Amino acid sequence: MPSGTFKRGGTSGHPLNSSPVPLSPTQHAQLERYLALLLTWNERINLTAITEPHEIYVKHFLDALTLIPFIEARLSPQRLIDVGSGAGFPGVPIAIARPAWRVVLLEATRKKVRFLEALATELGLRNVEVHWGRAEDAAHDPAHRERYDVAVARALAPLPVLLELCLPFVRPGGYLLAPKGADPHPEVEAAARALKMLGGCLEEIAPVRVPLLDERRTLVIVRKEHPTPPSFPRPPGRPAKRPL
Ligand code: SAH
Repeated sequence: MPSGTFKRGGTSGHPLNSSPVPLSPTQHAQLERYLALLLTWNERINLTAITEPHEIYVKHFLDALTLIPFIEARLSPQRLIDVGSGAGFPGVPIAIARPAWRVVLLEATRKKVRFLEALATELGLRNVEVHWGRAEDAAHDPAHRERYDVAVARALAPLPVLLELCLPFVRPGGYLLAPKGADPHPEVEAAARALKMLGGCLEEIAPVRVPLLDERRTLVIVRKEHPTPPSFPRPPGRPAKRPL
């Protein structure tokens, strides 16, 4: 038995058998191939601090898949954007589990973009588009601005900054979902002003259970009520330097 916060899957075997959404054999195989590529590329470029396979399945893959039921309880998205996707979390596991959704991965670091492109090709993910750029720029491009039903962002920034980087992508009536730790209340309170300025409304701070993980997590769910004023996001670097 591993120490710490892990629970093995008991009799259920493979950690993906504990997925919060059903996975076909093809999807299961795609996630296994993803794990292999992640570990290989991680020897050359820094993609993940976690390198133990069971821990990757739980903290990256199952963690990402946990968002899907929260999305489907609200809408049937056609387009989803993962802002600051890094090594593909949470966007790629979502794209694997939901091939009918178009998933755009936005990432500012070129070498991570190269990994994401190789990954999408190797896994045959025809619903995935990788975009190299900063949110502050991409969100002013008419091809991206308010063109998404859903934006997701994990470990991108504290909430006031994350909102400015993500909400401009979401159409009015759409949603932003941001996975956070056990107590996001201070961040949420600090984000009240940003929410109002950007056209968002806090819908829920949902407690989340990641399968096989004994850690308290939450999901901050924001509904976009009004269009975001064209002055947001501010130029690159400004949202993080001077949060709203
Ligand atoms: N979402 C991934 C990566 C988190 S690290 C995960 O949870 O594992 C944050 C990532 O966001 C980094 O890869 C960084 O390059 C990217 N990033 C930071 N600021 C950004 C911006 N303004 N626009 C686009 N990507 C950004």
